[in-house]
Amino acid sequence: MRLRLATHNAGKVREIKKILPQFEILPEDSAAEETAATFVGNALLKAEALAAKYKGDWILADDSGLQVVALNGEPGVRSARYAGKDGDTPANNKLLLENMSKVEDRRASFVCAMALIEPTGAIHTVEGRCHGVILSQPAGNGGFGYDPLFVPDGHERTFAELSEDEKNAISHRARALAQVVKIIEGQMR
Ligand code: IMP
Repeated sequence: MRLRLATHNAGKVREIKKILPQFEILPEDSAAEETAATFVGNALLKAEALAAKYKGDWILADDSGLQVVALNGEPGVRSARYAGKDGDTPANNKLLLENMSKVEDRRASFVCAMALIEPTGAIHTVEGRCHGVILSQPAGNGGFGYDPLFVPDGHERTFAELSEDEKNAISHRARALAQVVKIIEGQMR
């Protein structure tokens, strides 16, 4: 089954393909600006933009990011452009460590919202979370984004040190996708 996915982020596409091997994933540029104040709102903006272009197809869009408790939920919906430039991971990670240099409460969560639009036009939204803590220095070379700084609860290694399969078993994206798969399977029955 074909699923048009509103992202070109190579890390996300790789993870989603691995979690959904039964689907043909077609990455698309939604060209939608992420102007909403919430993850769900931004996922909907991207999904609706693609649905207008590809009527009758299954559409999936996600919006994700990191929320740090002591920073009142920042970087939040601005995770990809926290330091200013979109997708500048080294600058984003450096700024996060600077902003947390005197912070003792290191709790944080990755959040992934997904908007699924059926060929009929019916819209579903889901959210997956993964709780953990932020280190004071990076560790590991895998994953992407804030992965080298984030140790998920119940683990001693960062997302960047875990294997893709280990991350996919517990990640915010995997948890959101599991809900999406249930919805799709329910509709296909
Ligand atoms: P989006 O493309 O608007 O959803 O922005 C997502 C941003 O949040 C990415 O650029 C990363 O900075 C961060 N992010 C989301 N998910 C992850 C993850 O699984 N690992 C590391 N960083 C992530």
